[in-house]
Amino acid sequence: MPELLLTSEIDRARLVKLASNENPLGPSPRVLEVLSRSQTLVSRYPDPSGFELRHALARQHGLNPEQVVLGNGSSEILELLAHAFLSPGTSAVYSQYAFIVYPIVTKAAGARGIEVEACGFGNDPEALLNAIMEDTRILFIANPNNPTGTLLAPDLLLNLIQQIPQTVLIVLDEAYFEYLSAATAPRSVEWLDKFPNLLIARTFSKAYGLAGLRIGYALAHPSVANLLNRIRQPFNVNAVAQAAALAALADKDHLEQSIVANQAGVSQITHGLQRLGVEYIQTHGNFITFRVGNAQLIQRGALGRGVLVRELDNYGLLEYLRVSVGTADENRRFLQALENLLPMAEPA
Ligand SMILES: *Cc1c(COP(=O)(O)O)cnc(C)c1O
Repeated sequence: MPELLLTSEIDRARLVKLASNENPLGPSPRVLEVLSRSQTLVSRYPDPSGFELRHALARQHGLNPEQVVLGNGSSEILELLAHAFLSPGTSAVYSQYAFIVYPIVTKAAGARGIEVEACGFGNDPEALLNAIMEDTRILFIANPNNPTGTLLAPDLLLNLIQQIPQTVLIVLDEAYFEYLSAATAPRSVEWLDKFPNLLIARTFSKAYGLAGLRIGYALAHPSVANLLNRIRQPFNVNAVAQAAALAALADKDHLEQSIVANQAGVSQITHGLQRLGVEYIQTHGNFITFRVGNAQLIQRGALGRGVLVRELDNYGLLEYLRVSVGTADENRRFLQALENLLPMAEPA
């Protein structure tokens, strides 16, 4: 673990963590208020149906509560999907550089993963469609994609969904949806009506700032939602997370502030990278993937300077690193560390 390079607990506390795409502003003050009163929740099991939160989410999205499934992070939703739809003798399709959890849950279910070559670091709709086999049960699409930040334009995405056979569940992972603008955001929730084989995964971990509480959700056709609800653990989402998520949903101002702060941070970091002559992939999320040659050396060096960024070797992106947008000060510290380290990391 790279953390071992830190010499003391004090170093650890001061560490600027820009490796997991969390919200640098933290959660809404309304969430903090709920947390301060949450002691009474601890000794009781949570509501196994997540009634209030499911109803609030259904209202927000204009759906029926039967179409909402809560998960212990949207990662659990992805796991449940693999349990429900994949097994030996079936396959799942996903793009090169797509979120690493897709191959993990696919292989854990004993199914075959079909990785499709990316186009411009993102989903190639035609190649994804062509990769679908007789035995394919799930198509995973992260949009925006993590770790590359790419976005498949709404019209291309809809066109792809229209061509996917009904026997394939389309898992549209929108963990970074909140960061999209009116111009770039697909009206994906409205598509649920027309495509019973579409499922949308969302999370409270990113823009809502609740990563540590572990809560995400799926929006789907009632029959798919019902299937997931039958195989999940009854108490999969803890009581504090349910209460916090309800409070987070109610604070539109904090969400808006978080989005505005993210835009400023993206601009700060990309301008910094341009100034340093560092190549990067245009992002639609709250993180930026950039090219540095000897990525491991830069990652270690940055850690030594108290800044943690993400290596992407497990994605086959050996010369790249991913930095999450932090506060203005954290972004500055990242850029400063990078500037000092770059001369040591010229590509071989
Ligand atoms: C962060 C992330 C998730 C899930 O996060 P959870 O904390 O498990 O909700 C899902 N998909 C993508 C693409 C992500 O980046």
